[in-house]
Amino acid sequence: MTDMRPYRRRYDAIIIGARCAGASTAMMLAGGGAHVLVVDRQAYGTDRLSTHALMRGGVLQLQRWGLLDAVIAAGTPAIEQTVFHYADEAVRIDIKPEHGVEFLCAPRRTVLDRILVDAARAAGADIRHGVSLNRLHKAADGRVTGVELQDPDAGMVDVEAGIVIGADGRQSLVARQVEAEAYATARHCAGIFYGYFSGIEDKGFRWYFADRVSAGVVPTNDGQHCVFVCVPHDVFAQTFRENPMHGFFRTLAANGQPLFEEVRNAEPAGRLRGFAGAPGHMRTSYGRGWALVGDAGYFKDPLTAHGITDALRDAEILARAVLRGDALALYQKERDALSADLFAITDRVASFRWDMAEIKSLHMDLNAAMKSEVNHMAAIAPGPAIAA
Ligand SMILES: Cc1cc2nc3c(=O)[nH]c(=O)nc-3n(C[C@H](O)[C@H](O)[C@H](O)COP(=O)(O)OP(=O)(O)OC[C@H]3O[C@@H](n4cnc5c(N)ncnc54)[C@H](O)[C@@H]3O)c2cc1C
Repeated sequence: MTDMRPYRRRYDAIIIGARCAGASTAMMLAGGGAHVLVVDRQAYGTDRLSTHALMRGGVLQLQRWGLLDAVIAAGTPAIEQTVFHYADEAVRIDIKPEHGVEFLCAPRRTVLDRILVDAARAAGADIRHGVSLNRLHKAADGRVTGVELQDPDAGMVDVEAGIVIGADGRQSLVARQVEAEAYATARHCAGIFYGYFSGIEDKGFRWYFADRVSAGVVPTNDGQHCVFVCVPHDVFAQTFRENPMHGFFRTLAANGQPLFEEVRNAEPAGRLRGFAGAPGHMRTSYGRGWALVGDAGYFKDPLTAHGITDALRDAEILARAVLRGDALALYQKERDALSADLFAITDRVASFRWDMAEIKSLHMDLNAAMKSEVNHMAAIAPGPAIAA
């Protein structure tokens, strides 16, 4: 869907990428009175490579923004328990109400990203899909002053901005053009294969860990479950190259015969999707006239299912800083303080060099890191600061 309205000559903020990070930053900025343009080269409402499980912090953000009801109304199941399977041992954890969050959920990206985009548009953001960033414009002193866009209807368009925000994902063009330094890089990464299945019993989130493999079962929209398997990056190609479906079921079986049987008896919906893995990064995420949010600035292995949760969190932290006119160094400092433990623990998990005792202990550390992240975000007063 393209938009035939002319562009303004100048916006307060131009955001590249209209997914979790970009759309929610736009919603916050536009809600605070800023003129915001958001462009995304992909079409509105399309899918994204992701197993899309939200942790408590992600659900908290949706609730703070008044969007959780729309997510549930779209048929997203409310998840009230998580079961960790460590080889043959199962540890069940009930989701206790905290900070008003009573359940977790895993909306398909076709659902979540659409709801965020609609909310940003309702807040006043000008959102254009099918439009790509070509390059950034910079002043003689290096300050980013705007963008050159490729619009399928209007052709090449130059637009000025107070700030250009890269919410353009892990391989961010904005990050490359401003030469954002990666000051932390993860050492390990995992490869993932996943697909959607009908006819699986809803038992909440299920995470499986065995020797050098893991898997997960994630209830989602349309009565389907997203089922994924994970292996170390160095065996990904050999596991899935010849026949991804065989590799998928072999890895499921390595996580336990009951899981294998359960998925084998379910009805697949569509093809399997794979991600070979990529090392996590923490990049410098602000400079003169620019900022990065979401995976563009901070990416970690998907194995701990925390990327969307952090993208929503950082959208709020960044937007508040921009609206208040804070030094953006404070945004990066806050993000990193909330992320350092998550980043380090995720790297350990993605190494697959753990036994059952250690992976359990890593999960306890992860839980503690997530708790302090949620406590921090819940303590921020909603609303007023947005308009400050
Ligand atoms: C296999 C896999 C499984 C995952 N599972 C989970 C999970 O279970 N839970 C979880 O929380 N996270 C998960 N993640 C991570 C999560 O998907 C990301 O953290 C999240 O998508 C980041 O959102 P974002 O908005 O920063 O970027 P993205 O979702 O990557 O969106 C970036 C957008 O920018 C646009 N764009 C890029 N370049 C340009 C350009 N030049 N011009 C215009 N537009 C551009 C793209 O079209 C895209 O729409 C997973 C990731 C992978 C790969």
